[in-house]
Amino acid sequence: MSKSVLLLPGDGIGPEIVAEAEKVLHKVNEKFGLGLKFDSALVGGAAIDDSGVPLPEETLSKARDADAILLGAVGGPKWDALEMALRPEKGLLGLRSNLALFANLRPAILYPQLASASSLKPEVVSGLDIMIVRELTGGIYFGQPRGVRELENGERQGYNTYVYTESEIRRIGRVAFEAAQQRNKKLCSVDKANVLEVTVLWREIMEDLAKEYPDVELSHMYVDNAAMQLVRAPKQFDVIVTGNMFGDILSDEAAMLTGSIGMLPSASLNADKQGMYEPCHGSAPDIAGQGIANPLATILSAAMMLRYSLQAEEAAQAIEAAVSKVLDQGLRTADIMSEGHTRVSTLEMGEAVLAAL
Ligand code: NAD
Repeated sequence: MSKSVLLLPGDGIGPEIVAEAEKVLHKVNEKFGLGLKFDSALVGGAAIDDSGVPLPEETLSKARDADAILLGAVGGPKWDALEMALRPEKGLLGLRSNLALFANLRPAILYPQLASASSLKPEVVSGLDIMIVRELTGGIYFGQPRGVRELENGERQGYNTYVYTESEIRRIGRVAFEAAQQRNKKLCSVDKANVLEVTVLWREIMEDLAKEYPDVELSHMYVDNAAMQLVRAPKQFDVIVTGNMFGDILSDEAAMLTGSIGMLPSASLNADKQGMYEPCHGSAPDIAGQGIANPLATILSAAMMLRYSLQAEEAAQAIEAAVSKVLDQGLRTADIMSEGHTRVSTLEMGEAVLAAL
């Protein structure tokens, strides 16, 4: 049965970078006989301009029906003055919650060709390839009760609740173990089990799950140590699994190790492996419309989409190899440009990836 892909270009540089990823997807669709069908819809500011809301019913309905979604980015100064509920970002959050995308996968890959872009020494980060699996719909960001209350002595107290049910831990754990199985079979679960009971349970469930994945080596690390190890010796990690808040912080830390936000893809998956794939960066309004944005994070997001939602591993690898090849050829968009390389536009970078395929 053919699988369907929904393209949501969004705002700013979104349409420019999604256009390049779309060409790449058409190419592998043909080359590997994947039988993918494509559709597109409006989200974010583009949808607000069209119909007044950031996530129109038609877009949500198409998203529900699709096997996978490729999103550019949303937002920009044009819509910043709107009230919270009508901001472009609500389109993104609405998609995440409506599709129950609980698992966020963020690889931090440093292509050896770009080692000088990192703030760490090249030998510490060259060849870095970590996958952070972050729980996205639970934990302290969503736990009840929450708020600011007044105590009897008149002082105000802010409070949030860090909660995870056993089933929430189990389902994110499974995604992480399976990701580790597809990689180097090492999984590090990050918690704060020396202080927080909720993460004592987290650790217990991870240990329990490990029995079902005997080929994966499970280890545990406290979050403060993990933050330190990520900058000290990041290559010790293969897959990291952690809760919403710790994952929020550690995935940004890991992303920065690579030095180039224009290179990083991400995936958010639900229980049916339906997923939304997007670059880690935003809509870059400062460079939108200039044809200089780096399309590689979006192209690599398309590769992740083929791997995790469309069961097309061979096509995913072909795209990743093509990206590596264009970097070997010395082609660089402005954000990753350094001396001795050839500066190319968004379009030229896309064309080079196509040629490498
Ligand atoms: P940003 O990621 O858009 O831009 C940060 C800097 O990185 C800018 O200088 C930009 O030019 C550069 N940059 C980003 N992507 C690039 C690419 N592919 N190639 C070359 N350079 C690139 O973050 P920001 O400036 O904080 O946010 C801009 C808008 O994007 C805001 O409206 C924000 O809300 C939105 N945003 C959206 C998402 C999303 O859609 N997932 C994520 C983050 C921010």
